[in-house]
Amino acid sequence: MTIQPGQAVIRGIPGRPDINLRSGPGTGHGVVFKAPVGTVADIIDAKPDAAASHFQGKVYQWLKLRMADGREGWGRDDLLDLLPGDHAPIGYAMLRVKTYAFTLTRNPYVQVPAYPPPITQGSEIELPAAPAPAAPAPDTLWVPAEEAPAPEPAAPASDSLWVPAEEAPAPAPAAPVEPVTPAEPAAPAVPAPEPVAAPPGCEGIVIGSKTGINVRSGPNTTYQVAMRLDRGTRLALLEVKPQDDGGAFKWVKVNHNGQDGWIREDLLTYRGTDCVTHGLIPSTDLYPAPMAAGQYWWLRGYTGPLPDHSGWDLGGDVGEPMLAGPNGGTVLTVFKAAKATPDRPSVVDHGIEVGDPSIFGDEGWGFGYGHYVIVRYSHDQLPAFVQNTLRERGMPNTAVAVMYAHLNTTAVQVGQTIQPNQPIGTCGNTGNSSAPHVHLEVRVIKKATETRWARMKDGLTDPILLFNK
Ligand SMILES: [Zn+2]
Repeated sequence: MTIQPGQAVIRGIPGRPDINLRSGPGTGHGVVFKAPVGTVADIIDAKPDAAASHFQGKVYQWLKLRMADGREGWGRDDLLDLLPGDHAPIGYAMLRVKTYAFTLTRNPYVQVPAYPPPITQGSEIELPAAPAPAAPAPDTLWVPAEEAPAPEPAAPASDSLWVPAEEAPAPAPAAPVEPVTPAEPAAPAVPAPEPVAAPPGCEGIVIGSKTGINVRSGPNTTYQVAMRLDRGTRLALLEVKPQDDGGAFKWVKVNHNGQDGWIREDLLTYRGTDCVTHGLIPSTDLYPAPMAAGQYWWLRGYTGPLPDHSGWDLGGDVGEPMLAGPNGGTVLTVFKAAKATPDRPSVVDHGIEVGDPSIFGDEGWGFGYGHYVIVRYSHDQLPAFVQNTLRERGMPNTAVAVMYAHLNTTAVQVGQTIQPNQPIGTCGNTGNSSAPHVHLEVRVIKKATETRWARMKDGLTDPILLFNK
C-alpha cells in the first residue's frame, strides 16, 4: 500500500532564511541539509519527537519531507505549514486551507504505510558531523489534544516506598457514563458488535451504558435530551464539534430515524476509514489491545506522569477477558484492593468522588488502581516493532512491565509464566473508577533485575509503545 503525499511548505521563523532538515525526528539527529523558507515538499512520514520534546505540553511532531530534487529530511511541525489536501494517511485531517502544522492534532495511531523509495538519481547528500545529542526531555510522549485539559491535580504522591500513587486523578472525568435514568428496567444484553472491516465514512456504535444513552439537542449536557438510544445502535456521523463551553469532550452529531441529536464522543465507539479525519480514534486501530477487537472502546489517552493521566483507559464490559501479550510473559504483581468488594467495587459505590486525593494514599483502594495485575514482558517476548522502538530510544534489550488496573477478577499468581494471550483477569470497575474499563500503564524496566513497580517510575511511557503497529 502506498500513500498519496500531502504537501508542506517551509514556514521557518522570523529573521531566518531557512530551516534545518534532519536525519530523524528530533534535534538529536544530524542536519542533512537546509531548506529555504517557502519551499514546497511532499510529506512522506510523520512521527512524534524522538526525545518527546514539547512546548507547553504539546509534543512536537516531525514530518519527513521529500524535496523536488529527491532529497529527504525531517522538519519539526512548528516550522512548517501544511497545504490543502488529505493528510489523513499520516494522522492529520483533510485540510481545506493552508494551516500551521503545529496547531494541528495528529492522531498517532494511524499506521503510516511504507512510502515507495525514491527513484535514485545519485544525489546522495553528504552528512555533516552530527551535533551533540539534545538534552533528554521529560518522558511525556504524544498528548492527544482531545485529552489535553489536564485532570484536576491530585495530591502530590508521597514519595514513599510502594506508591503506585502515580495513578492519575482518575479515569477520565471518569464519567464514561453520562447521567442516565437509573429507574429503567434492565435492558436485554445487546450482542457486542462483531469485528468487521472498517467501512468508508465513520460509523458510531453506542456503548455508553447498558440502559442506553442520552442524545441531546446541542453539544453539551446543558441541552435537553432529544432522544435515548440503546446500546449497540449504529449511527452514521454527521459532524463533530468541541463542547460548546470549551469542555474536554467533543460531541458528535448523528441522525437516528430522521431526528438529529448530539452525543458525547466517549459514549460511542468508532469504525471507519474517515474517523481519523474527524479526530476520532477507531477502536480497531488500537489492535492488539488486551481485549478482543470490538469488545472495548477508547476512553482516554496518556498525558504524562502525575498529575496527568499516566496510562490509557479502554472501556469494556465487566467480565470481559483481559489478555496478556502475544508472546507470553511473567506475572510480577497481583494486587487485591481490600475495599473493593464484588457488590461495591468502586470508590463511587462508597460515596467517594472519583479523583478524591485520599484515594491515592489508600492501600485499601490499591492507591486508586483497584485490583491489578502487573506483567513483565522480557525483551524477547516483545514484538519486533516494540524492540525496534526501544532501540531507537536508546534502550536496547530492555524489558517492559504492563499494569492492568481496575480489574474485576484476577486469574494468575505472582511468578507465574503466562502463555501467549492468556487471560490474566477480567475487566472491572474497582478502585478509582466510575465505569468498567482497564487502565493500562506501561513502564520500561531500565534496571533489568527490578521487580518493583514503584522503582520503575523512570521508565513510565505512553502505552502507544506497544500498539503502534
Ligand atoms: Zn486510567
